[in-house]
Amino acid sequence: MTGHHRAMRKYILLAAALLALPACARAGDTVALTFDDLPGLTLHNSQPYVNETNRKLLDGLRRHGFPAIGFVNEGKIADMDRAQQTAILENWVAAGLDLGNHTYSHETPDKLSAGAYTADILKGEKVTRPLLAAHGKTLAWFRYPYLETGPTRKKKAAIEAWLKDHGYRIAPVTMENSDWMFSEPYDDAVARHKARRVAKIRAEYLAYTDRTVAWYQKAGHALFGRDMAFVMLLHDARLNADCIDDLAGIFRRHGLTPVTIDQAMTDPAYRTPDPYLGKDGVEWLERWSPVLDRDLPWDDFREPPHDIQVAYNRLDTDK
Ligand SMILES: [Zn+2]
Repeated sequence: MTGHHRAMRKYILLAAALLALPACARAGDTVALTFDDLPGLTLHNSQPYVNETNRKLLDGLRRHGFPAIGFVNEGKIADMDRAQQTAILENWVAAGLDLGNHTYSHETPDKLSAGAYTADILKGEKVTRPLLAAHGKTLAWFRYPYLETGPTRKKKAAIEAWLKDHGYRIAPVTMENSDWMFSEPYDDAVARHKARRVAKIRAEYLAYTDRTVAWYQKAGHALFGRDMAFVMLLHDARLNADCIDDLAGIFRRHGLTPVTIDQAMTDPAYRTPDPYLGKDGVEWLERWSPVLDRDLPWDDFREPPHDIQVAYNRLDTDK
């Protein structure tokens, strides 16, 4: 996941006092859970580990009755055992969950031409499209790796036109918790059997998720003045599989009901234009803020804990 850190945003901390919102009910909020990097995001390429990750995640989603969509990098299928990697995708569809395209090789339009980028999207549907069709479903959703949508107007528009022509809808992100940054140190701690370290990372991850979920709800109110339907970016990683009950608790405490991405996207908020041009990966509330001429509550935003950032950077450098 080298490069995910490019999605990290730089914030100017303002000295202004924070205007806390009243503790109003959030009963109207819903969230679509989206898991990127199927058949699995893992520090070590271990097929049993990835199989176990998906087994636990699908079991957890089923127990809680949560709908979800998984975004596939078919290039990852060949990284390990082809039959078992494909079986993971089949298990997602058999569980009644949806799959989307996340490009074949997790590339960025910052580095590829529009033609090369869309060829990589097309290459990334060879397994997924027939798999969905066999279950009476259609491949409908596309998620940009790193949330990088094109550095220039021309390139961004060319990719968007291609997606439309091929029946894809863009899956935006309006809530995220930097799970990828916690995930690598977590995989490392699990592999080294460091139980106390495993427990500490989980606790830090859940505390950070609890905080960021509240921040996005506040941000949604800042833009639209009401509860909204969120689309949350998570990854198909062991950390989420191991924490699914705790994550369910966080959603419940914040009044967030998990729904399908199709349901979430019926919120009129998603008709807001996305004018963002640039190399950075930016989520959609930030794209909409200038369109709506409303500020996001950045004073209250926090990056992940320092020790997690240090651990992630160390592991990423080692690769
Ligand atoms: Zn990804």
